[in-house]
Amino acid sequence: MEVCNTTYGNNGWLGIASIWASGNHITQASVKLNDTYFNTATYNTTAWRNLVMCQEVGHVFGLAHQDEAFNNPNLGTCMDYTNSPNSNQHPNAHDYDQLETIYAHLDSTTTIANSTASAAHPPAMQNMDFTEPGTWGKLVATNNNGNGEFYVQDFGNGHRVITHVFWVPGEKRGKPDHHDEH
Ligand SMILES: [Zn+2]
Repeated sequence: MEVCNTTYGNNGWLGIASIWASGNHITQASVKLNDTYFNTATYNTTAWRNLVMCQEVGHVFGLAHQDEAFNNPNLGTCMDYTNSPNSNQHPNAHDYDQLETIYAHLDSTTTIANSTASAAHPPAMQNMDFTEPGTWGKLVATNNNGNGEFYVQDFGNGHRVITHVFWVPGEKRGKPDHHDEH
């Protein structure tokens, strides 16, 4: 996993996590934090930085959102969207329980140090920069207010890149058109 921050521009997102997957395994990932917004008074706080960083890194490990409404009480986890992140800066016990479940399965062969796993991805998948919405592929999930959506760019044979987007509250834009609205 590579975690980066820079001024990615007024593109509507605070953070994105791009997850390269092959079959049932995550092979590599990147997390991008957008300083264009974290340089502004609203988001230039430790709590906002921790919320978004922790949530995007959590997605890479396989964690999902525990709650996707901004206005309800915090659950004490960064996997809970909120307008007031002070108490949502870190994982909670449920997140750790989920990790134990996710990683309890056994493979028939070791995948540790298997650098060929990512090398086997199609070149287009390996070399693509997934910063721009047009590269994210198909929107595969939404919740009631659209905050839980993620995208899948399918490269065939189980190779795909999954992109989780943490939109700036109230500033969602730049996302591809889709026709599966509720
Ligand atoms: Zn998220």
